Amino acid sequence: MSDCVFCRIANHQAPARVLFEDDHLMVFHDIAPRAPVHLLVIPKEHIPSLAEASREHLELLGRLLLGVQRAAREAGIAHAFRVVTNSGEGAGQSVFHLHFHVLGGRRMAWPPG
Ligand code: AMP
Repeated sequence: MSDCVFCRIANHQAPARVLFEDDHLMVFHDIAPRAPVHLLVIPKEHIPSLAEASREHLELLGRLLLGVQRAAREAGIAHAFRVVTNSGEGAGQSVFHLHFHVLGGRRMAWPPG
């Protein structure tokens, strides 16, 4: 989708600090980090949110979670990290392309706000 900023990043049409990518996903640094390490793991395919994922995405969803694990490992936070996906505007979603936040490098509070 040309009007989706994460699609543009996935297609190398917009800048991002990319940690790694493959044919299915991309991992890059959040532009407004909420922790010392704040990465975003996105599928290259446009899926608006987790609520819109379906069985056809079964394998892709597994790849994304392994992408989260690799991101945490490569960023040096594998011992303690948080994974968040906001699904829907009321949950705080502001970019409507599925993404997993990977946060770490500081102590995390619970429950989240
Ligand atoms: P959410 O609010 O859960 O949809 O998360 C969207 C995240 O994307 C926010 O943490 C933003 O700071 C981040 N973001 C928005 N635009 C960009 C961009 N161009 N590059 C990197 N991160 C971005």
